[in-house]
Amino acid sequence: RVVVVGSANVDLVVDVPRHPAGGETILGGELRRTPGGKGANQAVAAARAGGADTTFVGALGRDDSAELLLGSLVGADVRTDAVERVDSPTGTALITVSPDGENAIVVAPGANAHVRIGAAQTERIAAADVVLAQLEIPLDTVVAAAGARRDGALFVLNAAPSRELPDEVWDQLDVLVVNEHEAADLAGASAEPESLAAALLARVPAVVITLGARGSLVAERDVLAVRVPAAPVEAVDTTGAGDTYCGVLAAALARGAGLAEAARLAGAAGALAVTRPGAQDAVPRAADVAALAER
Ligand code: ADP
Repeated sequence: RVVVVGSANVDLVVDVPRHPAGGETILGGELRRTPGGKGANQAVAAARAGGADTTFVGALGRDDSAELLLGSLVGADVRTDAVERVDSPTGTALITVSPDGENAIVVAPGANAHVRIGAAQTERIAAADVVLAQLEIPLDTVVAAAGARRDGALFVLNAAPSRELPDEVWDQLDVLVVNEHEAADLAGASAEPESLAAALLARVPAVVITLGARGSLVAERDVLAVRVPAAPVEAVDTTGAGDTYCGVLAAALARGAGLAEAARLAGAAGALAVTRPGAQDAVPRAADVAALAER
């Protein structure tokens, strides 16, 4: 069982000829409204692409956006009974995409600022084999979620978006998942992935660094670090690749897979995700992930 604790956002996406400067108005293309947010994306990935019994712990408003997100979660067989409805609007990401594919994003956290670990959430977390969180919700909530897990359950943190982590988080971490930028932020300097991983292993037992089209790096204390290559694919939209990777990694770890094997499946899922537009809409099915991972 996997419990994902995190954010849920509706992504409002519009293609623009270029990103507007301050004070400027620009006409864009047709508006797309799609389910996103790192937490909800990772929950959908753990369930649909990872095949895990998955519960999402998060907060939604009482609005149409909440219905869109619940529909996506339920459609992927994610359990939503520990999702709270609050008075703030559902989290929303305002995204403009320029012709070169570069995104400019503003996130209005809304309900995500109110994710909390109450009795219902504690009960779900205590039954999990893996608890997976990210940093789009309050840090206190991340700490409480990690603390509610049973002995032997893994706490996996995708430390995104980048922010400093307090000791209470470092001390509870079993597996840290970051991309190269986040790894450099946490290590306090940029360097080769192997060096970044070595530096981070001083604080966590296991580190996974995702490297986009170059795959990922898996490093554990007292084990030689391994590179997991990415499958060559035609990239259409890289949104949600990292989230798909994290969700599938958590699902595989919950089944008892080793970290390198989990990373191989996660990488296959991430590669398939970049071949389709959107975040949750791009999450592949478990059978397709397994087929690609076996090639
Ligand atoms: P983030 O979006 O968080 O920066 P990455 O870009 O590193 O995350 O992508 C996460 C994972 O998805 C990578 O480790 C890789 O396995 C897979 N992936 C991402 N982009 C590609 C790509 N262009 N081709 C193949 N696999 C990819």
